[in-house]
Amino acid sequence: MRHYLIPNEGKFFKVNLHVHTNISDGSLSPERVKEIYKANGYSAVAFTDHQIMLPHPELNDEDFIAITSVEYAKNKGSYMLLPSTHFNVYAKDQAAEVFPFFHPEGFWGAIKHAMDYRTEKMINFEPRTFGYGPEELNKVIKECNEAGFLVCFNHPKGSLQNYRDYGGLKGLWGMECYNTGAAHEGYEDDMDPIDDLLTEGERKVFPIAADDAHGEGDCCGGWVMVKAERLEYSLLMDALEKGDFYASTGIEIYDLYIENNVLHIECSEVDEITLHTPIRFRKSIKSKDGEKLTSWDIDISPLIDTCRENYDSLTKDTYFRLDLRTDDGKRAHTRGFFVDEIKD
Ligand SMILES: [Zn+2]
Ligand SMILES: [Zn+2]
Repeated sequence: MRHYLIPNEGKFFKVNLHVHTNISDGSLSPERVKEIYKANGYSAVAFTDHQIMLPHPELNDEDFIAITSVEYAKNKGSYMLLPSTHFNVYAKDQAAEVFPFFHPEGFWGAIKHAMDYRTEKMINFEPRTFGYGPEELNKVIKECNEAGFLVCFNHPKGSLQNYRDYGGLKGLWGMECYNTGAAHEGYEDDMDPIDDLLTEGERKVFPIAADDAHGEGDCCGGWVMVKAERLEYSLLMDALEKGDFYASTGIEIYDLYIENNVLHIECSEVDEITLHTPIRFRKSIKSKDGEKLTSWDIDISPLIDTCRENYDSLTKDTYFRLDLRTDDGKRAHTRGFFVDEIKD
């Protein structure tokens, strides 16, 4: 039986899940952000201004959705010297009238703007502080999840994060594997922190490529391609929540399914595809003699058989995922698919 890992039905929508406007420390107005992204083929943008969650229903039209969201930040101490944790929170319900909380820590002028907007638009405005570190963050993630929000851990490298900062986190929905703003500053994020959490048995932690745009120069570098029935807020958020998407900085994935233990991918031209697993089973294929790759069939029986034989051991949390790259630096990443998701 053919098991689609990205749904066969529906349509792909290009989405940027991280942008700042002049409501916090960005230079572009929300209207200008919409204009730029629409002109570049995007169907949705999450407005993640610092500390303040402002819905932008006025920007919706039949070809565009403004996702209600916010970026929270917690510094360990001196911003220049020590790590900080940034995370985005996305409302599953666009009208989200209950904001998770207001986190009044200074951030590049965002607070002043937040206070200006507070009286006009915000409904629930509970100030909330929390400490630094995974234990404190877990409480916040839990609260956000319970209130109907998806939580994404942002730009781990750009925030000087290592395993001490994110190990043991529970309930994340996503983690940035690419952040255009951070990449422009020389911080290339990667998939390692996501693998760290997947191997701890966290089943989501989907890879997110996003811009974190603060101005026009950071726009349209990384995105997610979401497969949904049609462009509607709740359908788009459902698809995101389920993981029906892949992250990209320029590569397209057209098809991804498994049939008789053979994983099949079809994509735009690439130079390398790698199958990652946390056990001793990894494979990759490279373009040869200028002949680009546009598909790959991978027999993953050894992975599936190993899991079935050891189903009650650690390997029950075994997953696989695909990385794609071109020689000129474009990438795409699928999420991790756990073997018991596809068992017959
Ligand atoms: Zn940030
Ligand atoms: Zn940001």
